[in-house]
Amino acid sequence: MFVGHYGPALAGPRFVKTVPVWAMCVAVQFLDYLWGAFVYFGIEHVRIEPGFTEVSPLDLHDMPWTHSLLMAVVWSIVLGFVWSLIARTQRRAGAIIIGLGVFSHWLLDLLVHVPDLALWPGGPKVGFGLWNNEPVALTLEFGVLAVGLLLYISATKAKGAFGKFSPWIFGVLLVGLYSISFFAPPPETAQQFGPMAIVLYTLVAVLAWLLCDRMREAN
Ligand SMILES: [Zn+2]
Repeated sequence: MFVGHYGPALAGPRFVKTVPVWAMCVAVQFLDYLWGAFVYFGIEHVRIEPGFTEVSPLDLHDMPWTHSLLMAVVWSIVLGFVWSLIARTQRRAGAIIIGLGVFSHWLLDLLVHVPDLALWPGGPKVGFGLWNNEPVALTLEFGVLAVGLLLYISATKAKGAFGKFSPWIFGVLLVGLYSISFFAPPPETAQQFGPMAIVLYTLVAVLAWLLCDRMREAN
């Protein structure tokens, strides 16, 4: 899942006004940031298997330290704690929403992944496999994103004229980036997916800052 993860990110400020969208964008992809680094350094492993699922060609057969349920809970607590250290106001509420953002990644992955998500490192693996039903998977991706976008727009107001449109531009750019990923050729080695993912997620967080956080403020 890619764009669907940004639904919970956009919904964040609806619940805790002082948490910026850019930080929520980092939170909802935090497990994949770690995955990118772990894959690059050979701690976790991925294979490219064209046609592995209808939507994604990635055989994510080994990612116990970033995508097991137990470790998802651990990383959620870790990033929530980090937020409580750097936030200036609403520390506890912000830590909770950032932690929930991290954990939302696992829940949404659970829906689309084939059973490759361990309950704990070495434990039984789960996944509902919606990536094998392209219409349902894509409806879910875009539906979750749309709900998050509407919650964000209802919870904030534009600071200037551009701010009225800028969150929609953010949404369109996300869908654009997602479409490109379908047609772009895969990298030469599966390992290169790691740094590619980190660059892409960082670009999205910067776009969120430019198009959401700088352009709008809490109601
Ligand atoms: Zn993931």
